[in-house]
Amino acid sequence: MNTSIFGNTPLHRCDYLSSKYQCQISIKKEYFNPNQTAKDRAAWYMVKDAIAKKLIKPDDILVEASSGNTGIGIAYLAKQLGYRSCIFVTQNCSKEKLRSLENLGAKIVHCDNSNGLLDKNSTQYRAWSFAQMNRNSYYTDQYNNPENSRAHYETTGPEIWQQTSGKITHFFAGLGTTGTVSGIGKYLKEKDNGIKVLGIEPKGSILAPYKATGKVPTSDTVMEKIEGIGRKFVPGIFDTMAVDQILQVERSPTVQTALAYYQHTGMLTGFSSAAILAGLEDYCRNNTVDMRDHIVLLFADYGDRYLHSLYHSLTTKNSVYD
Ligand code: PMP
Repeated sequence: MNTSIFGNTPLHRCDYLSSKYQCQISIKKEYFNPNQTAKDRAAWYMVKDAIAKKLIKPDDILVEASSGNTGIGIAYLAKQLGYRSCIFVTQNCSKEKLRSLENLGAKIVHCDNSNGLLDKNSTQYRAWSFAQMNRNSYYTDQYNNPENSRAHYETTGPEIWQQTSGKITHFFAGLGTTGTVSGIGKYLKEKDNGIKVLGIEPKGSILAPYKATGKVPTSDTVMEKIEGIGRKFVPGIFDTMAVDQILQVERSPTVQTALAYYQHTGMLTGFSSAAILAGLEDYCRNNTVDMRDHIVLLFADYGDRYLHSLYHSLTTKNSVYD
């Protein structure tokens, strides 16, 4: 398989955002990966590692717990390389992602994470127990597999550094498994410790309080639904030193931001990318930025994956369906 198809995604300056916030803003467009998502990189590294360590053989079943994008990457690699795939998905996996998984021949198992990840119906518990019971299967385990963040440390981080000629001052990414921010943040900080790395998650997620206090919060507040980001547990691969600050955003301003961005640029952002835009708005309101600053936003996927969720909910006369 020609692995040069992964990564090397473009970084484009966004004139609309640069003029709005009076600084340089560029977007790392991860939807230029083979399955239109940053998670292709993590899937590729995790499967590559399993092959190198001879942990899998032809026709084995690759297993993952995923809100969709990593699952799609795993299912794609399984199809390309002669394995099968079984993906345990959450309740809020979009219809478009489910369709992609089906097209890639994945077995899809619907799970329920509302009672936490130790619950017997959760994605992670069921993926783990499936792999325990089936000798011919391998659980890639994106929350605990260091290959997830290594993919970003070895590929996305260096790409961003090179594409900005080392002039990047701020980096924003969404937090799910934290593989993206842990890998890229570590790489950028090794290059220049002054670069500010910002993580974005929905209100009610726990990584912001965890980062601030070092403790997992005990109160169980409801988490706003923003597909792809937000967790109620600390992923094993989370590198707290790779990120300076975690901003929490709400769903409603995120949806409004997606519509405004569409009106100005004609681009449909993914759900987590819209959350980054909402976080950027908060950041620029509370901090001083100027033309010497070069902010890079990582857009993990594209909005056509959320036509029935993020964009369908827009019923104003400016809706993308008008
Ligand atoms: N955005 C989207 C659309 C995603 O699918 C994910 C992964 N669930 C993320 C952001 C977060 O990436 P990571 O898992 O590397 O933290």
